[in-house]
Amino acid sequence: MSYDQLYINGQWIPTQKGGTFASIDPSNEQVIAQVASATKEDAEKAVIAAREAFDNGPWSKFTGKERAVYLRAIANEIRNNLHEISSLEVKDNGKPYPEAEWDIADAAGCFEFYANLAETLDEEKEQNIQLGDDRFSCVATKEPVGVACAIIPWNYPLLMAAWKVAPALAAGCTMILKPAEVTSLTAIELGRIAEKVGLPKGVLNILTGSGREIGPYLTDHPDIDKVAFTGSVPIGQQIMRSAASNVKNISLELGGKSAFIVFDDSDIEDAVEWIMFGIFWNQGQVCSATSRVLVQEGIYPKLLARLAEESQKIKIGNGFEEGVKLGPLVNQKQYENVTAAIQRGVEDNVKLLSGGKKPEAFTQGYYIEPTIFVDVPEDHPLWVEEIFGPVVSIRSFATEDEAIKSANNSIFGLAGAVMSKDIERCNRVARKLRAGIIWINCSQPTFTEAPWGGYKQSGIGRELGIWGLENYLEVKQITSYNSQEPWAWYIQ
Ligand code: ADP
Repeated sequence: MSYDQLYINGQWIPTQKGGTFASIDPSNEQVIAQVASATKEDAEKAVIAAREAFDNGPWSKFTGKERAVYLRAIANEIRNNLHEISSLEVKDNGKPYPEAEWDIADAAGCFEFYANLAETLDEEKEQNIQLGDDRFSCVATKEPVGVACAIIPWNYPLLMAAWKVAPALAAGCTMILKPAEVTSLTAIELGRIAEKVGLPKGVLNILTGSGREIGPYLTDHPDIDKVAFTGSVPIGQQIMRSAASNVKNISLELGGKSAFIVFDDSDIEDAVEWIMFGIFWNQGQVCSATSRVLVQEGIYPKLLARLAEESQKIKIGNGFEEGVKLGPLVNQKQYENVTAAIQRGVEDNVKLLSGGKKPEAFTQGYYIEPTIFVDVPEDHPLWVEEIFGPVVSIRSFATEDEAIKSANNSIFGLAGAVMSKDIERCNRVARKLRAGIIWINCSQPTFTEAPWGGYKQSGIGRELGIWGLENYLEVKQITSYNSQEPWAWYIQ
């Protein structure tokens, strides 16, 4: 299968300059595909196609019910090719195969969910508004924002695309999808699926290539009405600045350094399981990863001992191997970033409980052991900065107030978790944490129906659920003057 063409206006075309870049399998550092490297000229073609499709094509005029047919067809195609697409994701991203299958099944579910919401939109998009002056009547109606651009990261390649493409198309927007250059392959598969289900031309355009090269061109472009981004805070800030040029509607899902508070009435085995899931799944390359763990003093030594024991049992390897729970990091750059963060902790004498290096069994591949630092000072970068790797920092605490204060002491506010047998306490703490997603007695399970997004520097807006659809809708008021009496302000 080749990946060296762009999907623009319903056609596969080579880049204007014919350039490509290599996609690498992070488990063995081998090239798996050559991917088209879009230029600004290519980006311009995609913008023209999406604009034309929105302004003059059928898509934005279709009823939600008509659009839902296409969204369901996309969901079905993803499901029909679950194994192939999941395998491609493993090769491109490195994650364990069962995790890739969750992602791809969730991506299909996301298209189905927004197909249902597109239908509901037909019934609910117009709302009569009661005004304080009965000479007037008013209707509020929802309309698609226009041409949307999705810029997505490499940690959940197809799923992150689905979180943006599905609600945008459900709303009636047309879209330009820019996958992360590190993991472009499943986005290209989505283009093939769009073509197969006969999505009208220009509705979904896929531009692979360098974010630095075409990203600012897109985010600054006057014919794009909306930018939806998931990625790092610095790029999110650049996008905000760039999108200001024509006051684009933006939604941003950025980084996190989420806290997991474990009270000492918790079951230690449950705590160990969820702490590990909270930081080691997807190799810790998860914006909502609970990378700071606060454990109450009473169980601190026992919990650390069990955590060290269990984390050393995690099977590391190629994502296709049976039983593997930790694959390689996504690329060399990420491997170097994570290694540097660990190195800094070691040099600053932060106590390393477990892991911290490349597992000896691997000469190739971007593998890093599950790594646990303990008694981490609250001002150390290991505690403060997002690492985006399988590295957890742990501290103990004495009181509930202390734990909440410590958890909230962060520039981020994406997620948080709390564990205790006292459900009242969990609910109380959940409401005091300044973050957009709180898990009680678990960490990470994510549902298409529920709102997703962050407080503080973790972003703007919410994805998923009904909130995800609202991201791609404008609200218009239509007010009528119904009185027979003249207005009589100028003309008496
Ligand atoms: P990472 O550094 O881990 O790849 P980023 O936040 O840099 O994470 O990237 C997320 C997405 O943003 C990718 O699709 C990338 O190509 C894109 N991107 C990078 N730089 C820019 C930019 N200046 N403007 C718009 N998008 C960008």
